[in-house]
Amino acid sequence: MINPTSWLEVDLDKISENVKNIKKYLGSTRLLAVVKANAYGHGLYPVASCAVESGADFLGVSSIEEGIFLRKKGISQPLLVFNTILPEQAADVLDYGLTATVCSLDVVQALNEVAARQNKKATIHVKIDTGFGRFGALPDHAAEMIRLIISNFDNIYLEGIYTHFSKANNEKITYKQFNAFMSLVETLNEQGIEIPIKHVCNSVAALNYPEMHLDMVRVGNLIYGMVPSKEIAITNPSKICSRVIFLKNLPKGHYIGYGNKYKTKKPTTIAVVPFGYFDGLEVYVFQPNGFLDGLKYLIKQVLFRFGIYSSSRKANINGASCYILGKISMQNCIVDVTKIKNNVFVGDVVELSARRLNLSQSIVRIYHRAGRVFSENDITPAETASDFAPPAGQRRETSIG
Ligand SMILES: *Cc1c(COP(=O)(O)O)cnc(C)c1O
Repeated sequence: MINPTSWLEVDLDKISENVKNIKKYLGSTRLLAVVKANAYGHGLYPVASCAVESGADFLGVSSIEEGIFLRKKGISQPLLVFNTILPEQAADVLDYGLTATVCSLDVVQALNEVAARQNKKATIHVKIDTGFGRFGALPDHAAEMIRLIISNFDNIYLEGIYTHFSKANNEKITYKQFNAFMSLVETLNEQGIEIPIKHVCNSVAALNYPEMHLDMVRVGNLIYGMVPSKEIAITNPSKICSRVIFLKNLPKGHYIGYGNKYKTKKPTTIAVVPFGYFDGLEVYVFQPNGFLDGLKYLIKQVLFRFGIYSSSRKANINGASCYILGKISMQNCIVDVTKIKNNVFVGDVVELSARRLNLSQSIVRIYHRAGRVFSENDITPAETASDFAPPAGQRRETSIG
């Protein structure tokens, strides 16, 4: 029986609904479900298998390792690896039937050699850098590269061509990238080259520019309910939970946390929650991008000094929104429960608004699917998730120290 103090609860039924609703919205356009980064923190295999069951045509991962992991788990859907590979990884691509992103000819050469030896074809998508400044061939070089790939490498199947938007919420920038991509496609068409799967959209672009859907869209954030949508019914499938493990009354004028960053202004009841920055609770990192960002950061710091916090420093306990006080520790945070001190007990569940993406791998993931509850490896099915919280009315009357 699992009895964790902190866990991520993922409702796979909701992920499934999100995927199905996105599919419906897309019509005949293929859906590539992005499951990189441990499915944005939700757990790679459970989400990938759920997405496939719910109609995802492709899956997208960043690394060869993620792709191999999913193949070993039995996922047979096309798997596009976004990062370009090293030439020595060519054998992995073929052994595990992955689809490689290609930005240069040396990788094509390596894939072709291995494929020829095995009498197979390596499936590739060529990536075009239309403005992101990361992976991809620049549009000016791409037409020639693609022509060479098609004419010189018999064991390569050029299935796709794609680009990635750097600022999809900006129409002008996105159209500039899209037009660069489409003019390359046109140049190729003029040379008699038609590539089956052309794709450019991430979540935000898929919502904002239906005219850019082309043959496939690559959707991550939307599946996880991380971007709002008027067009598609999307729900948040997960919540980050921990529990109160200690309660205490502090007098006025008592410091809280490392660095003495917070001092109580009145008698304060605190709850210690075993969830800190190691687990994924954000600490502010001073990384301003320009003057406005710097100013925002400064204002936040000043408000923080006066005890006014942004929403990311809130924790929900028994329906009340409570502030996290002082500096967050490595594996703990301290929550002000003064306003609910008569209705908070050791063992109570705390919902945190940490970023799921930052959630430590060590936090247990608990899944709900079609009335069943199970953990990541499906080893220990628990009866219900509410087992983790002592039922209301039977809570231990722990004295506040
Ligand atoms: C992460 C990623 C996506 C998904 O972006 P979202 O904004 O989460 O939809 C799409 N394409 C590529 C290449 C990516 O790396």
